Order: sequence, then structure tokens, then C-alpha cells
Amino acid sequence: MKRYFGDLDQKTYDLIVIGGGIIGTGIVRDAALRGFDTLLIEKEDFACGTTSSSTRLIHGGLRYLRTLEFKLVWQDLHEREVLLHIAPHLVDRFRFVIPLLRSKPLSRISLSFGLWLYDVLALGKSLPSRKYLSFKKTLDLEPALASVPDLVGSYLFYDCQARYMERLCLENALGAAEKNACILNHAEATGFLLDGSAVKGIKLRDNITGHDYVARGRMVINAAGPGANLIWNKVNLSHQYNLRRTKGIHLVTRKLTNQAVVLFAKSDGRLFFIIPWNDCSLIGTTDTDYSGDLDSVNADNSDVDYLVSETRNYFPQFNPDDIYYTMAGLRPLVATGEKKESNTSRAHKLIDHEQKDGVPGLISILGGKITAYRAIAEETVDLVCKKLMVKLPCTTALTPLPGYPAIGQDDLLKISQAKGLPLETINYLAGIYGSRLASVLAYVNEDSGLSRRIRSGYPDIRAQIKHAVTEEEGLTVNDFLLRRSTLGLSSSQGQDAVESVAHEMALLLGWDNQEKQKQIQDYRNLVAVSQKFRKGAV
Ligand SMILES: Cc1cc2nc3c(=O)[nH]c(=O)nc-3n(C[C@H](O)[C@H](O)[C@H](O)COP(=O)(O)OP(=O)(O)OC[C@H]3O[C@@H](n4cnc5c(N)ncnc54)[C@H](O)[C@@H]3O)c2cc1C
Repeated sequence: MKRYFGDLDQKTYDLIVIGGGIIGTGIVRDAALRGFDTLLIEKEDFACGTTSSSTRLIHGGLRYLRTLEFKLVWQDLHEREVLLHIAPHLVDRFRFVIPLLRSKPLSRISLSFGLWLYDVLALGKSLPSRKYLSFKKTLDLEPALASVPDLVGSYLFYDCQARYMERLCLENALGAAEKNACILNHAEATGFLLDGSAVKGIKLRDNITGHDYVARGRMVINAAGPGANLIWNKVNLSHQYNLRRTKGIHLVTRKLTNQAVVLFAKSDGRLFFIIPWNDCSLIGTTDTDYSGDLDSVNADNSDVDYLVSETRNYFPQFNPDDIYYTMAGLRPLVATGEKKESNTSRAHKLIDHEQKDGVPGLISILGGKITAYRAIAEETVDLVCKKLMVKLPCTTALTPLPGYPAIGQDDLLKISQAKGLPLETINYLAGIYGSRLASVLAYVNEDSGLSRRIRSGYPDIRAQIKHAVTEEEGLTVNDFLLRRSTLGLSSSQGQDAVESVAHEMALLLGWDNQEKQKQIQDYRNLVAVSQKFRKGAV
């Protein structure tokens, strides 16, 4: 994947996509696989928005049964199965435990019914069905639940986790680039090319160089997630659609449980998770209306206090010192008039602005979950086909993502022996890159020094930096630490590796010392935002 602005004004793209989250990258891959000439622009980096602040579940969403969204759950359970097939290197089946409490006999009955229904809606799936576990079997499976007062047993059920949503998103961009799509990160849509009211293309800025460009397109897709309304402002749409932004945060903490645990908040009955993630636990989430600045979303004290006190109801020994850092993101929901944020539907909506506003050439997408991204992309590109009056079938349900397949343990051992690298390193790299591990190791073949670790204590090797810069449009220290490797997602947030990464990237990208220091500071600023909740933090 090469970032090249050179021929933007030389042609008219069939499709231009604004936004490199999971929805935008899913659309551009679908369109490129159908043979459309496509361009995607992302103002920062792929997945840097809501996509990377999610709970990272590929799921039907047990809790949406409460709001009677059976169709949504059924569709998403189908998509879960599709993703297990096309991205087994990134999507893992995952076991969840729901503790049952003596004091809540009614919720035991409703859970039993809900899980039965979840299984029925997932008919034909490859994951095992729900199971009841006695008190003893519950503790055998998850000893940490011994601290839960009132425990009488539990239910087990299965869903999926994509540990690195960032990579799922990036692989969609890579897959599109393999089919000749032009994929540009750090490129922001600044305006539209209009012919009367019709959209004919976009104006964009390369946020790395500051240069401005134009790109013509037959259709433009607004997949800017929570920033969708800022795109509408640029085309002077007379009325705003009902975009409801709700903030959701997670705590990244010391590991509390070995299994994913589903709990219910005592204060408001909301469902929340404690999920094993890397060397930590991920606790979340919250769901509160947000009207502040889109670029400064952070977990505040009240968000953190809510999750800490709800967690303590089940794990009394848990305390704020167990928190390593926080993550926060905005859901771009379709407002339904629902009072309670968490009851607002997660269903998506396609807006054809030609039909709704008399603005031909523009389509927007609101809402939707990551789980449904492929189906949303299919629906969007189907609409594009209709508008452009062509018939091109969607192939994404059967076309594996670029890192497919997951590599088996025997092969990993062979690779480790052949390359003379520790099995731990090879295992780790395969968990991130899948079969694309080979393209990382190709750099080690060229220069054995690239097999050295970036920093002791982390499994990441120097070849990953060269690979990111050369093949994955990794252009900033943030891009590498947070979305090409997993250094920045560890309990230490990779803070002691920042300087080494900046040093290597400076050599590859020709940064002077001033730029290098700026890059380091940019990362430290992000870390500071994730730590803002601490009493006394500035
Ligand atoms: C706390 C939380 C937990 C969640 N958990 C789950 C879960 O477990 N499973 C699940 O399926 N879903 C989950 N979701 C929902 C899911 O994360 C979102 O629906 C999804 O990530 C939205 O993706 P998107 O591409 O629309 O938005 P984004 O990921 O925000 O992408 C939009 C992109 O557009 C870019 N952009 C904006 N303006 C411009 C411009 N002018 N020019 C160029 N680019 C621009 C932004 O930089 C951004 O990268 C969760 C959401 C939250 C908030």
C-alpha cells in the first residue's frame, strides 16, 4: 500500500470514500473487489476514531434482545460467522461467563430465556451453545468469581473477539489497495467539488505536507462516523440528520479474570463486561450523550467512578490504582427519539442525499456496529451500483482478508526454527499479521539486525517498523505504536519504547531532530489524555 497523491487530478474515480474507520475501509474494499476505481481518504489514521475505542467484540449483542432488536441480532450473528471464516487470524471465538446471583431469581429466568433466544437466532452457527454451570464448576472455570457475593452458578455462552480491531480495519484498506484502490491516510476532506447542487468530487489536504488537492468522483461516500455532520456542513445541507453521539469508555486494568465476564450494573441495570485483553483486563463500557469537541474525547472522573464502583460490587478488592489507562470513543448513532442512550438502536442507516436533499452524488452512513461492517459495506456498494447503473456482485463474504489464514502451531515452530527467532516472537507476530507475517520476516532476511527487539520487555522487533513505514502507511509514531504494532496497547502503553520507535522512524522517513521530538511529544500527549481521570492529573 503506497501513499501517492500524484495522479489524483488525472482521472475521475467511480467512488470516493471519506473516513478510514471500519465502515469506510469495508466499503472501499468491497468496491475495489467489484472492480470500481476507488479512493479512500482518512484525516488521521485508519481506525484511529471510534473503531479503536470499541469493546472489540464481534457479536450479535445479547443486550439488544432487551430492546427487542431481534433482526439486528440475527444479522450480526450471521456476520460473526462470516468474519470467523474470512479473518480467522484476527477474530477469535470467545467464552463468556454470566454469574447468577441468589438475590436475583427473576434475572436468572430472563437470562435463561435470553440465552436460549440468542442460540436460536444463531442457528447454523459454528460456535457452541449456552451451558449452565453449577457454583463449583463456575469457580473451577473462573476462580476470581469467588469474590462475587451471592453467587449460585453461571451461564456460559460464546461470541467472538477481535483483539486488534485496528488490524481488521487496516486489512480492509490493504485488501482494497491490492485491488488498485488509492488509499490515503493523513488526508482530510476539506470541501466538495460541486456542479450546481451535485457532488462531483472532493477537496482534500495532505495533513503531512499541508498540500491541497482535488479528486473527482462519480459518487462520494461520507463514512466519517461521529464527524458525519461536519461533512454535511461542507456541502451546505439545509438540515441536519439526527446523529446522536454517545460516549463510551473502557478502563484498561490489571488482569482481573481469565474469562470474559458479563455483569449488570447495580445503579442502572446496564450490562457491562470484564474482558481479558493482552496482558490486561478491559472493563466497559459507558453510554452517555456527548456534545463536546470531537477531537478531545476522554474518560472523565464520573465515567471512571461509575465503572470502578460497579466493578467493586463484584470484585471488592478492585481499586483505581489497578487502572493502567482509559480509552474513550463516540458512537455515531441514528437518533430514534429514545430517552435512554443505551436503548438507542445500534442499527445503521444509509442516507441517499439525492433522494432526501436533492444532492446527487453523495451518500452518508450513520450508526452500525463493527460486527456488521461487511454487510453495511455491501448494502452501500449495492446502492452505488444502482446509482451508476451497473451490476457487479459483492464478493466480500467469501474473500478472505489479506492476513488469512491463521498459521497453525506446527508451522509457527518451523518458522521460528528456520528464522532463528524465539517462538514467542513468531507467535506474537502471527497474532497481529496472520500469514502476512512472511512480509515482516522478509525484512529480517535482508538485514538480520531487524530481528532485534525494539525494546527489551516487548516482543516487537525492528522489522515491524520498516514494514509499517514501507508497506502499511505507518507515518507517525502514533500510527506505529497504536495501530501497526500493539506496543501502545500494553499496560505500560509502550512509553519506554517511544524514543526507540521515533529514532527508527526518523531514519526511515528522514525526520530532523525537531520533527522527531514533535512525534514523541504527540504520543505523550495522547497518553496524557488517557490518564486525565487521575486525581491531580493536568
Ligand atoms: C465504547 C464503544 C464500544 C463499542 N463496542 C463495539 C463492539 O464491541 N462491537 C461492535 O461491533 N461495535 C462496537 N462499537 C461500535 C463501533 O465501534 C462503531 O460503530 C464503529 O467503529 C464505527 O465505525 P466508523 O467507521 O463509522 O467510525 P470511525 O471509526 O470513527 O471512523 C470514521 C473516520 O472518519 C475520519 N474522518 C472524519 N472526518 C474526516 C474528514 N473530513 N476527512 C477524512 N476523514 C475523516 C475519522 O478520522 C475516523 O477515522 C462500540 C462503540 C463504542 C463507542
